[in-house]
Amino acid sequence: MSLPTKDDLKLDRILRHLDRLFASYSKPHDVRHIDSTRRHMQRVDIHKELGELSLVDSDDLRSWLRPLDHLFFGGMIFTNRITPGVEWLMGRTGKDYEDILGQVVVESGKITLRLCPRKHANSVQFLGTMLHEMVHVFIRQLAIREGVFYSWTMPSTDCFEVFGKLEGRTGHGYYFQKLARAVEDRARQLFHCDGIELGRMRAIVAEYQETKQIPTGEYFEEILKSPKYPNQPQPEAARDWIVRFDERERLRALHEAEMKEANNRIFG
Ligand SMILES: [Zn+2]
Repeated sequence: MSLPTKDDLKLDRILRHLDRLFASYSKPHDVRHIDSTRRHMQRVDIHKELGELSLVDSDDLRSWLRPLDHLFFGGMIFTNRITPGVEWLMGRTGKDYEDILGQVVVESGKITLRLCPRKHANSVQFLGTMLHEMVHVFIRQLAIREGVFYSWTMPSTDCFEVFGKLEGRTGHGYYFQKLARAVEDRARQLFHCDGIELGRMRAIVAEYQETKQIPTGEYFEEILKSPKYPNQPQPEAARDWIVRFDERERLRALHEAEMKEANNRIFG
């Protein structure tokens, strides 16, 4: 996990698209997309209270993704001509997907976005997961459009090395963080809701677990700074949190083992 260097920037094909997308955020947005999203969120919350979240079916969720695409991704996720095979698969009654909140799966040239409404406490949390997964899809679409991949799974050209480095081992690298931060800020503004979050700290941890590389201070500075939202983790505190991650995991495992042993002594 690192910032792009001058050498990377020469070969990078993704960042200028992201900058163009961010520039489009200053243009007026269609309020109907906001209304539509709010309606879907209300339905999720109502069903959740009734314990019947599964009533929100695949079609509902699909019709919810389109306004989000317009508000956050320039409408390109669904109109991109390289992705006719995109298929959105949603958790529905009796058919949840293991223990996941959301997931993007690339298989035999087809991309599938999996979302599991029932694994979320409320619609705000669910919206964060949807946007998180859409960020993954958007970055991969750009990589294909720019020829970094021949197809969804086949890397090509010399740009792949730079893409691989900046995409990260788990897909939560620099590109993800840069886009997720912008989407998160915009979502909080558009919906007047500071609670929307795209799991960016969890994303850093996922990359760390895979690479065991602690990002530099500059990396944290760049990806976490957001003057509009001072409640976000401060770069220094976040870095400290990652540095101590293994130690905390070790203590947690120790504690669990002790609890188990104590439990066995009483009930075993
Ligand atoms: Zn992710």
